[in-house]
Amino acid sequence: MRIERVLAPNAGPFTGPGTNTWLLDASGVVVIDPGPIIASHRSAIESAVGDRRVLAVLVTHTHSDHAPLANPLAHHYEVEALGYGPGDEFEPDRLLADGDTVGLGVERLTVIHTPGHALDHLCFLVDRVLFTGDHIIGGSSSMIEDAGAYMASLTRLQGMDLVRLLPGHGPEIDEPGAVIDWYVAHRRQREEEILAAVQSGATTLQEVVEEVYRAVDPALHPLAARSVQAHLEKLVKEGRISSELF
Ligand SMILES: [Zn+2]
Repeated sequence: MRIERVLAPNAGPFTGPGTNTWLLDASGVVVIDPGPIIASHRSAIESAVGDRRVLAVLVTHTHSDHAPLANPLAHHYEVEALGYGPGDEFEPDRLLADGDTVGLGVERLTVIHTPGHALDHLCFLVDRVLFTGDHIIGGSSSMIEDAGAYMASLTRLQGMDLVRLLPGHGPEIDEPGAVIDWYVAHRRQREEEILAAVQSGATTLQEVVEEVYRAVDPALHPLAARSVQAHLEKLVKEGRISSELF
């Protein structure tokens, strides 16, 4: 099994060094997260594939830095684009659900539904290596849309026997257990900090963000606000804070 990374030239505050497009070759290439539609990135993928046979194009989730090139690339190679569901710039030829498998010749890829960062988020497992998309990224925490679902999806990974994580952004992760544990602890800590901010008088999303992310560059506060919003919704749902506040 051979795995290569093609880094998309879309570095930024939301994407770190750029989107990792993964080429997984186990007797034919599967392209995971082709990324945004950028001509030079598409050429880089096509030249990395070379004259090898492409089996399918897979998408971890439908955010615009991961999925838009999937349909054009799948069309080019005359294969299917696979994902959990349609998104703004993605229309799957075949839907994937939790527990599905995709044949790769000698290997088999297993689909794991991991909602939280996005509700349509999937991870892909091949031989104890997990392609994590934005569920877990290299070098920092990830933005979340649904805090309860996200925690459940993280906890699920804690029970798996993994040797490597290949994320949608940042470097590959060779200590999966330690990083997953850190992610769980980090989210719990943030949630406690958010709860404390509310209990000490913050009454708007902005006030909570400013309190909890005091030490973080204000340019990143809009990004942080999405995760704070998700935690507030979870706390309201659990009856731990008043729904009248948020
Ligand atoms: Zn994303």
